[in-house]
Amino acid sequence: MQTHQFDALIVGAGGAGLMAALYASQGGAKVAVVSKLYPTRSHTGAALGGIGAALGNHEEDRPEWHMYDTVKGGDYLADQDAVRVLGEEAVDAVIELEHMGLPFDRTSEGRISQRRFGGHTSNFGEKAVRRACHSADRTGHMILQTLYQQCLRNQVRFFDEFQVVDLLLNQGVACGAVAIQLGSGEFHCFNAKATLFATGGWGRVWQVTSNAHSLTGDGAAIFLRRGLPLEDMEFYQFHPTGLYGLGVLLTEGIRGEGGVLLNRHGERFMERYAPTIKDLASRDVVSRSMYLELRDGKGIRGSDYLHLDIRPETVNRYLAEAGETRRIDEDFIARNLAETLEVCRVYAGVDPLQEPMPVQPTAHYAMGGIPTNVNAEVIVDAAGKVMQGLYAAGEVACVSCHGANRLGTNSLVDLVVFGRRGGKRIANFVREAPLIPPPMDAGEEVRAEFERIRNSAGSSRPGALRAQMQSLMMTHVGVFRTAEGMRQGRDAVLELRQRFLQDLGIDDRGQVFNTDLMEAWELGCLLDSAVVTAECALAREESRGAHSREDFRERDDANWMVHSLISSQASGLVTEQLELALNHDRPVDRSLEAEDERFAPKERVY
Ligand SMILES: Cc1cc2nc3c(=O)[nH]c(=O)nc-3n(C[C@H](O)[C@H](O)[C@H](O)COP(=O)(O)OP(=O)(O)OC[C@H]3O[C@@H](n4cnc5c(N)ncnc54)[C@H](O)[C@@H]3O)c2cc1C
Repeated sequence: MQTHQFDALIVGAGGAGLMAALYASQGGAKVAVVSKLYPTRSHTGAALGGIGAALGNHEEDRPEWHMYDTVKGGDYLADQDAVRVLGEEAVDAVIELEHMGLPFDRTSEGRISQRRFGGHTSNFGEKAVRRACHSADRTGHMILQTLYQQCLRNQVRFFDEFQVVDLLLNQGVACGAVAIQLGSGEFHCFNAKATLFATGGWGRVWQVTSNAHSLTGDGAAIFLRRGLPLEDMEFYQFHPTGLYGLGVLLTEGIRGEGGVLLNRHGERFMERYAPTIKDLASRDVVSRSMYLELRDGKGIRGSDYLHLDIRPETVNRYLAEAGETRRIDEDFIARNLAETLEVCRVYAGVDPLQEPMPVQPTAHYAMGGIPTNVNAEVIVDAAGKVMQGLYAAGEVACVSCHGANRLGTNSLVDLVVFGRRGGKRIANFVREAPLIPPPMDAGEEVRAEFERIRNSAGSSRPGALRAQMQSLMMTHVGVFRTAEGMRQGRDAVLELRQRFLQDLGIDDRGQVFNTDLMEAWELGCLLDSAVVTAECALAREESRGAHSREDFRERDDANWMVHSLISSQASGLVTEQLELALNHDRPVDRSLEAEDERFAPKERVY
């Protein structure tokens, strides 16, 4: 196996990975970025609406208000030390992106333009505020391009189309990863003093999702298989406006610009569920409201979708009703929501300027993941013990600054703020730290697992297993949950996992770009992510944020103001029985609340 040595290994080239790579390299570290996709194809490039920061370019805004919205939006499960960092450092991080050359939209005075987004308010919940900094509706694309250019300029070494399949641990310390070069099928060993995982989310666990095909939870599954804990896996966000049938995301920016959700009677139903903030309530609230409308038979033509309307005549009517002076026209939409128009025209044959868009909630974002502290260092127990040399950032990580539900625009903030912190920490760490060699048997187990898959000749096709898992998770571990449904879902997914281990069959036995093989391995990651999600969801007997239980409708702060930590007890990389251990010993950090009682839990919005 070919071995490469670096100070720092960054796994993943999305916003979080690139930010970490940039800062580690600026601090003098020799950095490699390993990515299964070409960097600018990472999902960060699909982020549309914007990045939140209290710049106050249009109206007064403050980091404390951003923190308040984040804590409230996360239904009080967010660690407030992390939220404080997020709110405070967002401002500076966005200005830094601007200085790197990111082409933000501008106000007439030449400042960064900001738009409204769900859950963002001024003065502790008083009224909607313009906080989302954007570059039309291509913000993520611009972030990714900007950071990639900066990394190239800084001599970061890129290993594109290398897929990491195992984490290397030696003497209780992380020392790199094993990857497959997709073009040759060869295994490579990356030995490093510091390893940071930024592999993104796992939306592909569900049938209807906004996530790219590549979001298969590899990083989370690798950690689980290496006996490391995952945090708050029950919290998975459904975004209200996925394009019907496809799940492709229609940005919240559409509602931010004035778009409204309507049922079959043309009623703006969010007025009933969230009278003050209406269509801009946080995502969990809007998704639940949509489900209730659909359940009441108020879907369009009795079907399971609703309408999202951005036509100027509709929007202007509601703006006038609200006493606002602002009006929009077709030009405004074409300029600010260009991607949206394109997506609807191409994928749904719908022109949003002429007719409303058909939408349904779509699986979107993992609040849970690899537990870290505010410096992106991976922690391995409820007390916050750090594993030396191991870091995580971005969607795969759980700091936790989003708690039980993430606010729109806060993921991009999370990437740049905690990616940067991780990079800086790594630069300091590698200056003193020794390079620990890989263990003697590095890669042996994972190679055996790949040989098993490559030679598998059973009757269960990966595509069929995946489709069944996605449908089960959509039905039983989706927006609304019950114990009975989740148990049924979990047991059925465990059976699929059994078939994956005992009866798998793939066709391609080759080495070069064997997508059959890689997709089968990714299916294993998805199945593991699905099982731990269901397991954690079943254990949490309350409703909070995105976790909504019909059998436990109330939020229960007395018993459940705690994080979940789940880990696999089995030894061995891929085991027949998933012996899971789950604890709730990790308390929520409530440092903001200790200083200002406005951060204390308020009643839950249903
Ligand atoms: C359609 C859409 C729109 C969104 N809009 C917004 C928005 O407007 N504002 C906002 O704040 N958030 C938004 N989000 C959420 C946000 O974009 C993501 O949470 C964020 O981009 C994730 O970034 P990341 O760096 O963690 O990972 P990603 O950008 O997903 O990148 C993951 C990286 O890991 C690599 N990788 C994965 N597995 C492996 C492996 N096994 N080996 C090697 N490499 C691997 C991939 O190649 C990739 O480079 C949106 C998400 C979607 C899906």
